[in-house]
Amino acid sequence: MEIGLSNNCVKMNLPDGNVVDVLSPVLEEIKQWIQDDISKPESGGYIVGYQHKHTGNISLEAVSHPYLLDVKNRVRFDIRDPRHQHFLRKARRNKSYYMGVWHTHPQEVPIPSDIDWNDWNETMKSDTTGCQYVFFIIAGTDEWRLWVGDFLTGEIQEAYECEKDTNGIYIRERMRQNEKTLQKDFK
Ligand SMILES: [Zn+2]
Repeated sequence: MEIGLSNNCVKMNLPDGNVVDVLSPVLEEIKQWIQDDISKPESGGYIVGYQHKHTGNISLEAVSHPYLLDVKNRVRFDIRDPRHQHFLRKARRNKSYYMGVWHTHPQEVPIPSDIDWNDWNETMKSDTTGCQYVFFIIAGTDEWRLWVGDFLTGEIQEAYECEKDTNGIYIRERMRQNEKTLQKDFK
């Protein structure tokens, strides 16, 4: 997924056939921290969101960003500053829950490192989220990618964007709109 091409929400497929919406505030915030300059350290933070009760779809709606007390250098970022916990508490009060973590890479297209895979596998064992999945975003300098850890299967896999038509409109969404129109016609 290209960084900064559009500020719209990005829809991606989940292993169970549902959809995860990555909302624009998430992408907007992450865009501020990409390592497009040799001096910029790795950055990261938590992701919060919620699951829609009726559809099962998930929205990732906000992220925390680096603070002074985090540990960061060119190739490493560790969440240490207590303000990340404060961010999670505040989100929870608004019914938005811990859903995963994001960080940057000084690569055009991010590829998870061995350390990332180890961290993510640890996260799968230790963390719980507001749903069946935990989300891992890595932002390179040109593109960002999303990986989804499934607590039911223990597997982590990359998530891919939902299919779009030639006008750039998500096909599932268009079908749903059509269904709604049809239902209205029947009434
Ligand atoms: Zn990494």
